[in-house]
Amino acid sequence: DKTKETKEKEELPPELQQYKGVWVFIEQVQNEVAPVSWELLGEGKKIANDLDIELSGIVLGFDAHDIAHEAISYGAEKVYLIDDPVVKNYRTRPYTEALVKLVNKYKPEIILLGATTLGRDLAGAVATELETGLTADCTILEVDHATRHLQQTRPAFGGNIMATILCKKHRPQMATVRPRVMEMPKQDRSKSGEVIEEEVHFDENNIKTEVLKIIEETKKAIYLDKADIIVAGGRGVGDKEGFELIKELADVLGGTVGASRAAVDAGWIPVEHQVGQTGTTVRPKLYIAAGISGAIQHLVGMERSDTIVAINNDSDASIFDVATYGIKGDLFEVLPPLIEEFKKE
Ligand code: FAD
Repeated sequence: DKTKETKEKEELPPELQQYKGVWVFIEQVQNEVAPVSWELLGEGKKIANDLDIELSGIVLGFDAHDIAHEAISYGAEKVYLIDDPVVKNYRTRPYTEALVKLVNKYKPEIILLGATTLGRDLAGAVATELETGLTADCTILEVDHATRHLQQTRPAFGGNIMATILCKKHRPQMATVRPRVMEMPKQDRSKSGEVIEEEVHFDENNIKTEVLKIIEETKKAIYLDKADIIVAGGRGVGDKEGFELIKELADVLGGTVGASRAAVDAGWIPVEHQVGQTGTTVRPKLYIAAGISGAIQHLVGMERSDTIVAINNDSDASIFDVATYGIKGDLFEVLPPLIEEFKKE
C-alpha cells in the first residue's frame, strides 16, 4: 500500500539516503580467498542491479593486488584495497578500524560478509562501531524496491521458522551470509574494473594483538563445504560399524562422509561431518542421504545440492520431498550392490 511505502521511505533520515552501493568483504587468509567471498559478489551483483547501484569489493591484506583483480573477474566494478603489512593477517582491531574508515568515507548502502569465523568477528565489531544493524547467518537476501530495504532472511527459533529482518533506520545495512548458500558466479578474467588503493595510518601501539606464529592444522581437515560428492548417514545407519558402509561408498565415489546430528550425537561419527543448521551448509553436485529422515534442520544444510539421492525404508520420510531420486528400501540391502557397481567403473 502506497501510504505505508511512502511512510517507510520517510523513516530513513535524509543524511542516510546518501548511502549508495553494495560492498562485499573479500576474505583472505594467507592470501587465499574464502570462496564465500566470490559467492557474495554473485549475490551482491543481483542486489546492485536491482537497486541500480554499484558493486564493490573490499580487500584488506598485504601483497594482495592479485586478489583485488580476481574480485573484478568475479563481478566487482570497483575494488577498494588496503595493502599494508599491518593487515596481512586478520586482527579484529586494525581490520575494524580500516573498514569503518572506508565506510565513513564512501558510505555504502549494504555490506555483505561471509558467515565464517573471521567474517562473524569482523562484522560484529564494525556494526558496533558504526552503530548500525547486522543480521548474522543469512540464507536469503532480497530487495524491497519501494523502501530500498534489504530483506535479510535467516533461520530462527532452532530453525523452526525463517525470520526476515530489516534494518530500517540505520545505514549501512550489514549481513553475514552462510558459505555455499549463494551460487558461485562464473569467473570472467576479461571483465574490467577499477582498483582504488586506500591508505590507513595504523598505530601498532594501539593494536593489542600480534600474530606470532601461524600453525598449520595437523589433522586432515574435513572440507564438507568444498566437497562435490557427499555420502551422508543418519540414525538409520544403526551404529558405528554401519558407518563403514557409508565410508566405503564415499571412498569409491571419491566423496566425503556427511552425517545427521542424530548420528553425531550417538557418537558414530565426529561432529566435523555434521550437515545442517548447526553443522555445515553444503552444496555438492551429488548428495546421497542414507537413513536420514529429512528434519528441517538437516534440510536447510543440504537442500541446495544439485542432485539428491535419498535411501530410506519409510516412504513418508520428508527427505523424499527434496530428493531428485528416491530409493525406498533398507540401506543395508541398497548400498552394497551400489558399492560393487561403482567399483567396476
Ligand atoms: P531420524 O529422524 O531418527 O531418522 C532416521 C531415518 O532412517 C528414518 O527416516 C528411518 O525411516 C530411516 N531408517 C531407519 N533404518 C533404516 C534402514 N535400515 N534403511 C533405510 N532407512 C532407515 N540435525 C541435523 O542433521 N543437522 C543439524 O545441523 C541439526 N541442527 C539442529 C539444531 C537444533 C536447534 C535442533 C533442535 C535440532 C537439530 N538437528 C539437526 C536435529 C534434527 O531435528 C533431527 O533430529 C535429526 O536431523 C534427525 O537425524 P536422522 O534423520 O538421522 O534421524
